[in-house]
Amino acid sequence: MRVSLAVAIIVGVSAGFAGCAAEPAKPGKPTTHAPDPEPTRTAEPTKPVEPAFDKAAHSVDDPMSIWVVSNKLRPLNPIDFAPSDLSMPEGVENEFNQPLREPAARAAEAMTAAAADAGMPVRIISAYRDYGTQVALYNSYVARDGQAAADTYSARPGHSEHQTGLVIDLDDHGSCYLMGCFGETAAGKWLAEHAAEYGFIVRYPEGKEAVTGFMPEPWHFRYVGPELAAEMHATGIVTLEEFFDLPAAPGYAE
Ligand SMILES: [Zn+2]
Repeated sequence: MRVSLAVAIIVGVSAGFAGCAAEPAKPGKPTTHAPDPEPTRTAEPTKPVEPAFDKAAHSVDDPMSIWVVSNKLRPLNPIDFAPSDLSMPEGVENEFNQPLREPAARAAEAMTAAAADAGMPVRIISAYRDYGTQVALYNSYVARDGQAAADTYSARPGHSEHQTGLVIDLDDHGSCYLMGCFGETAAGKWLAEHAAEYGFIVRYPEGKEAVTGFMPEPWHFRYVGPELAAEMHATGIVTLEEFFDLPAAPGYAE
């Protein structure tokens, strides 16, 4: 007993001296006396950590942002916003010769060219519509069908995604012009499958009327850029409202 106590004291004293004898600590020099409590952990193969998708990389409020979220509760601000970088898409039929914002125009050219290469030539039937055009269009629908009906298929001025310059409506020269059956056509299916590769999403998908406020529009493609389109595709989150945790917008505030 006595011996082991003496050993313990000596060991303790030696350890104390060893500590005192060490070089004066330099700032930043790691201490080496603490053993790794779980050395086996470091032996496990480490998976490369994917950087988390940065949902704040672009604004959802700025009308010039490629991620702007426009819906029945989120009018563009200012309400008569007009983009500053409009450009006419080249090499694609464009029924009303409407332009798009620069990045969306280039992406639309690439996507429609690829669709044509795949044997499904499509044409643009609507792109950028300015505030004044939407005022006239919406008012004509209200006059014809009444406001309640018009609100189900046409956006009020300042609430139309087409006013962002980031949207194209497409058609395949078939019998489903601006109709739900476009989603069942070969072109509609090809576009739904490949849109994300070009930075577009189907903005008003099936089953999400209560979120987006619009009936399914398989012809309406919104440019959000390839990064966000790929992330939405990968996560299976199909609406901008859900992806960015924004309130559902089934109808107008008043
Ligand atoms: Zn549209």
